Amino acid sequence: MGQWLNGNHMAALPLNEDGLLRIKITLDSPLRWVNSYLLQDEHGITLIDPGPRTEVTEQEWKETLASLQINEEHITSIVLTHHHPDHYGLAGWFQERTGAKVWMSERAHKEAQLMWGGGGHASDMNEKLPAFFAEHGMPHEWLRQIPEHLNRFFSQVNPEPQVSYIDEMMPVRMGGRIWLPVQTAGHAPGHLSFYQKDSGVILCGDAVLPQISPNISLVPGSDDEPLRLYLDGLRRLRELHVRAAYPGHRGPFMHFSERIDALLLHHEERLAEISGMLSAAGGLTGYEACIALFGNKLGVHQMRFAMCEALAHLAELVRQGQAELERMDTETFRFKPAK
Ligand SMILES: [Zn+2]
Ligand SMILES: [Zn+2]
Repeated sequence: MGQWLNGNHMAALPLNEDGLLRIKITLDSPLRWVNSYLLQDEHGITLIDPGPRTEVTEQEWKETLASLQINEEHITSIVLTHHHPDHYGLAGWFQERTGAKVWMSERAHKEAQLMWGGGGHASDMNEKLPAFFAEHGMPHEWLRQIPEHLNRFFSQVNPEPQVSYIDEMMPVRMGGRIWLPVQTAGHAPGHLSFYQKDSGVILCGDAVLPQISPNISLVPGSDDEPLRLYLDGLRRLRELHVRAAYPGHRGPFMHFSERIDALLLHHEERLAEISGMLSAAGGLTGYEACIALFGNKLGVHQMRFAMCEALAHLAELVRQGQAELERMDTETFRFKPAK
């Protein structure tokens, strides 16, 4: 039966058996697309992770809404799993057009401000990140590309939304069902997954992805133990009884706990590999470890994530007492095996 809102008929969306409609929004990166999800109840439509703001994605959304016969005012909530531009980017654009509330965790919003500015402050990440990479041995030919690379993302998150907070302890209603927010970190601070206990459905954002190991980043000014936090979060997600997982990238998948086991194993093996590399070499800068792990044929986008991922693992080895951070000269550090 149709519902009436503001005098406008709201067409019933072609939801799947789990009450979701997945919309693939194009990404200009090897990930190729981000999954947005629409949920619907008599109050309106909830939009999860609208994607980055580009000319292409704006057009995709306009066409998608038209083909689904959605009026903009039918979108009453925009929910964000995390602050990355490929998920958060269009939230402000949609908010301006729909008047919808934008929801995310307080921690994720703090991270959005660190990365993208907002609250009256410009982000200084395009200075902080190259300075941090320089301390860890990255050569100048890479460093000089980082600010311009980061600047490209500011247009993808503009305008910044007005945000309301989702508390982990407060179940939320979306699509007429109650979802439990599960907050994890490591891939992104304050990342929220949404778990529907009765049906065993989880919207897991980038916390768990099929085929891809979510990037774990050590970022200056953010969490200083991202890998430990990520692994802790995986173990908590592992306890849920998930039948169907709807991720931020690639397709829905059923083998949620097996996928988590594989990710836990991957990071354990990677830590052992890096520990072995440090012992063999007697010590490595973060950049040397990054090149040994990922090669040097990367573009600047992949290099930035590879560097942050290598440093996240090195920081975890330090935390575990397997490595030590040593000052090489006034400007540079390296990691050496613990005595
Ligand atoms: Zn992400
Ligand atoms: Zn993503």
